[in-house]
Amino acid sequence: MNYKIAVIPGDGIGPEVIGQTLRVLDEIGKKYGHEFEYTEVPAGGNAIDSEGECLPQKTVEICKSSDAVLLGAVGGPKWDHLPGSERPEMALLGLRSALGLFANLRPAMLFEELADACPLKPELVSGGLDIVVVRELTGGIYFGEKGIVEDENGTAAYDIEKYSEMEVRRIAKVAFDMAMKRGKKVTSVDKANVLESSRLWRRVVTEVAADYPEVELNHFYVDNAAMQLVRGPKQFDVIVTSNIFGDILSDEASQVTGSIGMLPSASLATGNFGMYEPVHGSAPDIAGQDLANPMATILSAAMMLRYTFGLLEAADDIEAAVQKVLADGYRTADIAKAGEPVIGTKECGDLIVAAVRGEA
Ligand code: NAD
Repeated sequence: MNYKIAVIPGDGIGPEVIGQTLRVLDEIGKKYGHEFEYTEVPAGGNAIDSEGECLPQKTVEICKSSDAVLLGAVGGPKWDHLPGSERPEMALLGLRSALGLFANLRPAMLFEELADACPLKPELVSGGLDIVVVRELTGGIYFGEKGIVEDENGTAAYDIEKYSEMEVRRIAKVAFDMAMKRGKKVTSVDKANVLESSRLWRRVVTEVAADYPEVELNHFYVDNAAMQLVRGPKQFDVIVTSNIFGDILSDEASQVTGSIGMLPSASLATGNFGMYEPVHGSAPDIAGQDLANPMATILSAAMMLRYTFGLLEAADDIEAAVQKVLADGYRTADIAKAGEPVIGTKECGDLIVAAVRGEA
């Protein structure tokens, strides 16, 4: 099979981590007989420099005509003086809206080899952790009506949380489809004891569950979910929740894994189209020094194979290769303990490519 991937290396460490990721994809392509065809496009600070805007229309067009988008990171101090609406990070919002990316997937995966980096007690995470937070990305309070009014108490401000059945059904299906490919358990998080919008959320998620009899569904209030994530994180498989609750819980869940250099993410549209990127930013402090950990981006590519291309075995293979490199004791600086020897970005890529090839 031939897959078209729009590649946005971006700024800072973006091109370095993307470079290693494409090497891993090429190796996987060879091994499984797939061809990945890359079209590199500008976005972010580099696009401001070369095209005069952070998200050129031709970038959007190429992304739209591809099967998936792979992004490094955008932004950096060079463009920090620009007004908010012209900054490199606006490219991300522009891409989300132009590509209809309504579902944000943030796995919190703790490799057993990195258990030391986890702030929780070892017995809570023994055997590693594998949670995915599915966050609704284009609705709810962040996009609802908002305003400032004057009344007898002075100035007041409001933001409205509003969800339609269509929006809840759409994101719930993403969560249940994902659970079918994983541990077959969905936890829906809301605040149905207080919020009307949460009561609608809970009703619709329960209706969608009827189409997935193999998947176990439970409902948590958001305060309880936040507590359980640090008391018993192994009870979770897929967590589905609204934009604002997902914003908070996905950060909480990812922190239990320890390092930002290990965290992949995906944003999905209908029809399996998706944009895949590491959670971290462009890390200008270490850019161009062969210090960046490319694993978050390589794991994002594994998500692309799994969720957009349906290449489950190849995706597992990449994750196993990353795990092997960790198990063999190799660490980039961000995940090394004090005094441990460290490897650079390129050597990390070499080792993961070798592990995919089955070399020791
Ligand atoms: P950051 O994630 O870039 O860096 C935070 C810290 O983590 C830094 O010390 C950095 O060196 C380290 N780090 C990050 N990724 C790493 C990796 N792969 N390997 C090793 N160490 C890593 O966050 P920041 O410093 O707040 O932001 C820097 C720039 O990135 C800003 O311009 C910001 O707006 C932008 N940003 C972009 C995205 C994105 O493109 N999706 C996300 C967040 C921040």
